[in-house]
Amino acid sequence: MESSGNENRGRIKVSCEGHSFFYPISDILRLFTGKIPKESDGQVLCEGNEGDPDITVISRVEEDIVETSIEGAGERIFSKREDLRLPLNREVKRQLYFLLSGHFQKTFPWGSLTGIRPTQVARELSEETEMAGIYGVREDKAHLAFLTKDNEDRILMASDPSAIHVYIGIPFCPSRCSYCSFVAQEAPRKTELLPSYIDAVLSEMDMVLPKIGASIETLYIGGGTPTVLSEELFEEFISSVFSHPEFSRLSEVCVEAGRPDTFTEKKLQVLLDHGVKRICINPQTLCDETLVRVGRKHSARDFLDTYSMARTMGFSVINTDLIAGLPEETYEEFCDSLCRIIELAPENITVHSLSKKRRASLTREEIVRQEEEELSRIEKMLSFASGKLVKAGYFPYYMYKQKDTLGGHENVGYAKEGTECLYNVAMMSDQRSVLSFGAGGMSKRVFPEGEDMLHVRVERCSCIKDPIQYISNVKAMAEKKIGFFCE
Ligand code: SF4
Repeated sequence: MESSGNENRGRIKVSCEGHSFFYPISDILRLFTGKIPKESDGQVLCEGNEGDPDITVISRVEEDIVETSIEGAGERIFSKREDLRLPLNREVKRQLYFLLSGHFQKTFPWGSLTGIRPTQVARELSEETEMAGIYGVREDKAHLAFLTKDNEDRILMASDPSAIHVYIGIPFCPSRCSYCSFVAQEAPRKTELLPSYIDAVLSEMDMVLPKIGASIETLYIGGGTPTVLSEELFEEFISSVFSHPEFSRLSEVCVEAGRPDTFTEKKLQVLLDHGVKRICINPQTLCDETLVRVGRKHSARDFLDTYSMARTMGFSVINTDLIAGLPEETYEEFCDSLCRIIELAPENITVHSLSKKRRASLTREEIVRQEEEELSRIEKMLSFASGKLVKAGYFPYYMYKQKDTLGGHENVGYAKEGTECLYNVAMMSDQRSVLSFGAGGMSKRVFPEGEDMLHVRVERCSCIKDPIQYISNVKAMAEKKIGFFCE
């Protein structure tokens, strides 16, 4: 039931003096409250948690000092500018985290690391203990970040730094999962759009690909659920994609089959006929009650059947996604799903934590609440997954955190040695350029600025999210990308 008002909710007000780092401050407030802060007149305001008193925080940057304090409470953290090891925005954020952590007696596994990739921070540090000391990251998470960073770096070293990685997005699904925060449209209600959407994507590729001089190393077809297309349209689409000479020397192709209810033998055969042997089949959970609860229109049995069909047909690398923290799913149910997946021995297993974003209907209905009990349950699930997967011969090889993820938890890709998905590392590490086709895709160009992996500059180029708008503006989108990559 929705809360009727703010009677017992304290408000947190952060006054920014001498700086305007509103985003970093909002990130930390959101971490502690789960609410979306508002910025106005040099202040960031946020509804607090039930039962907490109002507090006013002063975040001050002066010529010789950076200081964060709670008005009237005597709580204060400060650093001399000359002693700072971090950029100012990160120091402001770090201080606010530690101040609120002490005030509310609350810590988070990743400390003040929000809105930044933990592996990137690990690259900037020499010791795991520094991550804990500087950012408040828990020891086991710091270890995970360093381990993942080492694996990311090893994988990137074997790839061509000047090559481009291509993503094609099909943002349609058979139904919308209640936790979805992507731009996915429900295909059953939008079937009439699918042929023109595919035409638009293919024409965008026709316009852009010949203009991109760089070689293309990997191709990832994701969504949504690309296999939501009818068999005929899927075949036409895949054949057209692979007719591009630019894709003749790919070292990896991955297709996100995603929802098991969209598979047919014919669609899988089309992929095999074009040499695609790497796919994702994502159950998210093997608990049927949860699958019904989150609006996925398939059962655990459907997943097991399609997994077995894909294996029998000869797919050699299969990724499966699981989510920790699905509504009302117990720790035992999550562990049971993970153990059953491990028994199947897919080459890759990706463990997500439930992301709480404003667009998801789950958030609107306030089904997911940021309660201590729930956070520690997700934490237990992630710890179980990490320990169990490492024991089963998987290692973490890429990681990302999404804004608003419940409790600031992480998403981690695990792989058996030699089966890692290079595209995922290229995309998530921000160390390689990515060219995206389709509605909502984000392209990025990476410019090396030094001899090591620490110094890269990343520029991004967004694309219209709405598929209908995308179809009507595809020429403009193509021109935008040509300008972005060729100038
Ligand atoms: S399958 Fe993925 S993209 Fe599609 S509705 Fe579910 S969460 Fe969203």
